[in-house]
Amino acid sequence: MQRFPSQNLRTPGPTPIPSDIVEAMTNPMINHRGPEFDTLLNKATEQLKQVFMTKNDLFILTASGTGSLEASIVNTLSPGDRVIAATAGAFGDRFVDMVEAYGADVKRMDFDWGGPIDPDDIRKALQAEPDIKAVLVTHNETSTGVTHPVEDIAKVVKGEFDKLLLVDAVSSLGCIPLPVDAWDCDMVGTASQKGFMIPPGLSFISVSERAWKAQQTAKMPRFYFDLSMAKSYLQTGQTPFTPNLSAMYGLSRALDVLLEEGMENVFGRHHTIAQLTRDGARDLGLELLVADEAYASNTVTAIKVPEGVDQKALMGKMRTEHNVVLAGGQGRMSADIFRIGHLGAVAKEDITEVMDALKIVLPEVGFNP
Ligand SMILES: *Cc1c(COP(=O)(O)O)cnc(C)c1O
Repeated sequence: MQRFPSQNLRTPGPTPIPSDIVEAMTNPMINHRGPEFDTLLNKATEQLKQVFMTKNDLFILTASGTGSLEASIVNTLSPGDRVIAATAGAFGDRFVDMVEAYGADVKRMDFDWGGPIDPDDIRKALQAEPDIKAVLVTHNETSTGVTHPVEDIAKVVKGEFDKLLLVDAVSSLGCIPLPVDAWDCDMVGTASQKGFMIPPGLSFISVSERAWKAQQTAKMPRFYFDLSMAKSYLQTGQTPFTPNLSAMYGLSRALDVLLEEGMENVFGRHHTIAQLTRDGARDLGLELLVADEAYASNTVTAIKVPEGVDQKALMGKMRTEHNVVLAGGQGRMSADIFRIGHLGAVAKEDITEVMDALKIVLPEVGFNP
């Protein structure tokens, strides 16, 4: 088979995989109903709880991140339930689409792309409609590079109104602090190919006591993502369905690496590198999409395509002439921005390389600040 050359892959997922994790994934297949898998699954689950900062139940699902988000919906809600879904980007929109597809009665709350979700607006909406059952939010909006104030949102949703809080943390968990128990989040979903430095194919989800209570009466159809099945199988050291074993081997190694570095250090590294990215872009004369630094994401930075510059030409030259793979925009911002991912196994040099290449390519595509 053709081998793809290694690139400076700066997409906000999938992210590059360190060689020792690649090596771990070459382990032979084992019986997923045998004792080796029992040990592997239990250790990884306990370590993931440390990363999630939770004592809640936690499950490893063989699915991309969207699987965990679908699980959060179908395990807590019934068709016709009134829910708030707040969105300020493509992934917020997708969460809206998902919960609508399962028949919820959605109060969609739109916020500016590039800005944060406002907890005060959520408070007003909850005050106006006491029958709201759940609030759905994205922690880190990957399409715009905004980290929403989930701590403050949780204070409103949980502290003041005691509603269910479902969180898409696909591009933040393990990179940006999201202490699940301290913030009292009911369901938090994330995925393997972002902060966890392994290939796509696994997603992780934490489930609070309150969410389990909701599960007992939740009537949305579910089978593959029925977490009561995952729970009973986990008690026997198994998953209900065949797990992605190779990714599990990688996960096992990745969790050792993350916990060895220490989560505080991992968060600090992401912060430092994100700052380097933002400062580097501004130094080149570029404008960031997120005007208020307080909400700028530490995992992905969105940069406005300068007037007169062809975004496709810029990204093409970066890839073919400098081996740097950038991401375009998404949804209605597809052509307006380009994005630099800086999550997972990322070091300062990766970003320096991006900035050095941009410095050469930008004038070539007509940017003269
Ligand atoms: C990547 C991403 C997703 C989608 O995850 P998949 O693994 O592609 O299913 C959802 N939400 C956010 C915030 C993401 O960054």
